Amino acid sequence: MPGLGFIKEELEESKRKGLYFRIRTIGSGQGAWFVVDGKKVLNLCSNNYLGFANDPELKEAAKKAIDEFGVGTAAVRPIAGNTVLHNILEEKLAEFKKVEATISFQSGWNANFATIQALIRKEDVIFSDELNHASIIDGCRITKARIVRYRHNDPNHLEDLIKEESKHRNGKRFLIVTDGVFSMDGDVAPLPELADIAHRYDAILMVDDAHGEGVLGSYGRGIVDHFNLHGKVDIEVGTLSKAFGVIGGYVAGSKDLAEYLKQKGRPFLFSNAVSPGDVAAAIAAVEIMMKSDERVKKLWDNTKYFKEQMKKLGFNLGKSVTPITPVIVGDEQKAQELSRRLFDEKNIFAQSIVYPMVPKGTARIRVMISAVHTKKDLDYAIESFEKLGKELGII
Ligand code: PMP
Repeated sequence: MPGLGFIKEELEESKRKGLYFRIRTIGSGQGAWFVVDGKKVLNLCSNNYLGFANDPELKEAAKKAIDEFGVGTAAVRPIAGNTVLHNILEEKLAEFKKVEATISFQSGWNANFATIQALIRKEDVIFSDELNHASIIDGCRITKARIVRYRHNDPNHLEDLIKEESKHRNGKRFLIVTDGVFSMDGDVAPLPELADIAHRYDAILMVDDAHGEGVLGSYGRGIVDHFNLHGKVDIEVGTLSKAFGVIGGYVAGSKDLAEYLKQKGRPFLFSNAVSPGDVAAAIAAVEIMMKSDERVKKLWDNTKYFKEQMKKLGFNLGKSVTPITPVIVGDEQKAQELSRRLFDEKNIFAQSIVYPMVPKGTARIRVMISAVHTKKDLDYAIESFEKLGKELGII
């Protein structure tokens, strides 16, 4: 097929440059240890912050829902309806997030995409943090609106730009959009400052809380709760695939917003909802989270311990203030070598993250801490990083 000849060339090129993703095969449920490519390894790469991905209560809830409702939803919600479980999930999530209403989507990606696509017209202006997640970037692009990128986590720069745009506003909608916790660096958006700017310039404020929920705020309610900004952030987007351990996404905000997205959000209108088993498992996760913050506390104890020890050894952990722990190596090939040796020699699954997920020259191993790790697991990881880090000249 001559037309597709470029594919081979480009794949070869990414392999040569150390930018090729080798996708491992998982052979067991998620846990502190799990089976990858046929061997049991320490899991340092899942976003299973609270250990829900393989939790017995969630599994039981999913099995019950499958028995009652089957495995699929069979058509899109606006045409063929949704199960009672979908409604319960949306109500529980609203209670958890302390908002009027939520609407659930098939993924966090779809939730970001749908929200921006539905609210913003081509004559409007979007102010987007330069390091926002790909789903935000793509959602912005589809609107054909003007996209003004502000420097990462820099409210002063944002204000300069928004002030400039306000000079010729003419009824344009302004949207300020940011990740809450940045997934590659583990730093947190300055949400109080952004809320203040949004208020003063009459802009919509949207935060993607994918890595904040289950992690920040009381009982893991997320970044808005962490900064006590309830009622001051128009839109919170969440995913059910990380701390909640399942799959799906949602948007939290006013009743009007949820209703509007049910009419206008294209992924909602044109793509099936997640299956009853997934929804039931997500409901179980929210219920457990509302009852106890034990898992959140364990996650933070683990995070503090791991980071302190790694810093003592001299590793560069960047700007992280959350369980996302980038061990910054810099060179792409060296990061991949470290990841490979951790896997081959130490039975540790800790993937390297390279361009285009992070800027060139900032390749890293992104360690994801979970509440399911024991101190012994963390000590083993630390010792292994120390040995290989020294051998590779990283520390
Ligand atoms: N936003 C951020 C910041 C993310 O890290 C991710 C997942 N990588 C998403 C959105 C998308 O979530 P989902 O996997 O549920 O589509």
